[in-house]
Formats: sequence, C-alpha cells, structure tokens
Amino acid sequence: FVPWENSDHPPFIEFRNVTKKFGEFVAVRNLSLKIYEKEFFALLGGSGCGKTTLMRMLAGFETPTSGQIFLDGQDLAGIPPYRRPSNMMFQSYALFPHMNVEKNIAFGLKQDSMPAQDIEARVSEMLRLTKLEQFAQRKPHQLSGGQRQRVALARSLAKRPKVLLLDEPLGALDRKLREETQFELMNLQEELEMTFLIVTHDQEEAMTVADRIAVMDKGELVQVATPAEIYEAPNSKFVADFIGDVNLIEAKVTEKSDAGTRLVSVVDGFVIDSEQETEAGLGETVWYAIRPEKVRIAQGRREEGQVNQIDGLVWDIAYLGDVSCIHSKVGEDDHDTIRATFANISRMVENPITWDDEVVLSFDRDAGVILK
Ligand code: ATP
Repeated sequence: FVPWENSDHPPFIEFRNVTKKFGEFVAVRNLSLKIYEKEFFALLGGSGCGKTTLMRMLAGFETPTSGQIFLDGQDLAGIPPYRRPSNMMFQSYALFPHMNVEKNIAFGLKQDSMPAQDIEARVSEMLRLTKLEQFAQRKPHQLSGGQRQRVALARSLAKRPKVLLLDEPLGALDRKLREETQFELMNLQEELEMTFLIVTHDQEEAMTVADRIAVMDKGELVQVATPAEIYEAPNSKFVADFIGDVNLIEAKVTEKSDAGTRLVSVVDGFVIDSEQETEAGLGETVWYAIRPEKVRIAQGRREEGQVNQIDGLVWDIAYLGDVSCIHSKVGEDDHDTIRATFANISRMVENPITWDDEVVLSFDRDAGVILK
C-alpha cells in the first residue's frame, strides 16, 4: 500500500499554503506538502533553500507568516514546541555534559513525571535499540562522535514522539560512520514504526534513507517523489543536475508524434530520438538529460544516418574504483563533453579505451529525459 498514490488517504503531516517571511525575505513560499504516517521523508536542497525553516515551523520554533500546518489532524497554530507531538534532534547534539548516557536519555521522561519503573524500562529499550548498552554509565566526553549521535537519537526517541525531526543529523560524522548510521536510522524507523522527517543537503543520504524526497529550491518545492523517480524521471533541469551526475545536452525539437520526439543537438548536430512526448513546441530549445551510466561507449565512429549516436574524442578518464568515467569531447568547446560511466569489471575484458581514442557514444530511446 502506497499512501501517496491514494489521494483519499489522510496525510499525517500537512503543510497547507505555508509562507514564511523574514522581513522582506521569503524563506518559504506558498508551500503545500503531505507526508504520511510511517514515512521516512527527506527535505533536500542546497544551502538557504528553506528546508530547515520548514522543519522548524513544524517543530514550533518558527511561526508561519501565512498558511497552516497539521499533524495527525490537529492544526498546530499556537501550540508551543514542547506540547507538540514531535521531537527534533539537532545537529549539535546538545547532550548534558555532566550526566551519563542513561541520565541523558531519561531526562525528558523525568520532566514528564513518568514513574521511575517505566523510565527504567524505556531507557533500557532505547539503549538496546541504539546499541549503547555498554556505554550507559559513560559521560558524553567519554564517547566518540558516532556514539554521542546515538545518545542524542535515543534521547529524542525516548518520549515516543509521533514524528522525529532530524536536522542534518549525520553532518558531523565521517563518511563511513555516516553510511552505517543511515542504515541504523532506517532500521530504527522500521522497528519503531514512526514517521521520520530528515533535512539534508546530501543527495546520497536522502536517496539512501528516504521513502520519498522533496527537492526544494528558493523556498519552493521543485519535485516530490521516490528516490528512483527523482533519479530516473527528474521534472526539471534543476533536479536532474542536483541529484547525481547528468549530461545536459541542449537540443532543438524537430519532430513530434505519438511515438515520441526527435531533437537535434545544438552542438555537433547529432539526432536524438526519444520515446518521450514533450510539451515543448517545434523549434523550441530544451535539455536532454542523460545519466552517464546510460551512455554506451565504444571505439569507432557513428554509423551514417543513425540516431542516438555521437562521435567523441576521449580527453579524460577518471578511475573511481567500482566504475570509470570517460569524458569525451563532442564539440569545439572544451565544455562540450559527454560523460559515460561503466563498471570496471567490463574494462578488464574489453579493449580498454584510452586518451585520444575516437569513440562513438550511443544510448537507447528511453535512456534520457527531455526537460524544459
Ligand atoms: P542550510 O542547509 O544552509 O541550513 P536551509 O535550506 O536549511 O539551508 P534555512 O535555514 O531554512 O535554509 O534558511 C532559508 C533562508 O532564510 C536563508 O536565506 C536564511 O538566511 C534565511 N533565514 C533563516 N532564518 C532566518 C532568521 N531568523 N532571520 C532572517 N533570515 C533567516
């Protein structure tokens, strides 16, 4: 069951026409968004796009200039942060330095006057879930960054909020620990069957953890979709460029039919035959976005009259371990290059392509997307 594909399904969190201004500056512009129960949802965007502001409004640390925010059917207007059924974990974990791990986790529960026995049970459950049992008696300064991060997580989860808000939670961790922690977060979210909302500028992180991603730019949503949809079918040049690596080929529409669209590249005049229909008119300039792994590369020249084939000259090869990325020049300008990646396993068996080789780059009619 996929709730976002069913418009009758009630959302768990809803932003309805939310705008946030700081003075004259519009940080979030008339934004509407629905997030469903038990979703792991990511807000993704570059610095200053408004993603943190959006989350802070949900948490109650900022008030919308206009619009409404609902959580589990309740309008949040006027409800202070501590009375909202959400909890936010901050980037600076803000642990109490003089308290040990156990006491840090128990703190919020004590404040809520939970009976001591229940606190004990809840704390041990949290220690188990975050794999911190052996560190229960340590103080924050006796822990590594990753362990501190887990304490903060345990503390935010101890009260069983309906939603956990994570603001760049893994920013301070090194790459390997970050990746491990991403999987731990996913497991936790599944085990607790909670709704998680994460803010990140790291597209790989969003792709890894999230069921759905909202890509933001300048205070607006550009695309809201699953990681696969965002990657395979970006709805704009901005999203294609922001998520992963992409070749953006400027091209003019020359033919339109039910069977698809024909385009001619502005550089080098090669013909692109796409199965996709486009709203762009004949003669209009668009972008053809194609991922490097969808471009095949072989030594040789293109066949006369063939579509979806480009002549190139290899000018750079980047060996990246699992894959290699070959940059081929396809026009006069140094910027007119197309990148093709392939798994290095195939490089061992094929005639290796090297610098200054004449190559033909080719792709299938469903390989790329036409974007305005
Ligand atoms: P980052 O990843 O850099 O934190 P972000 O997408 O989370 O970026 P926000 O923190 O939401 O961005 O900020 C959006 C815009 O609103 C920024 O231009 C920021 O300078 C501005 N802004 C945020 N808070 C305030 C404030 N309290 N007063 C004035 N401007 C603010």
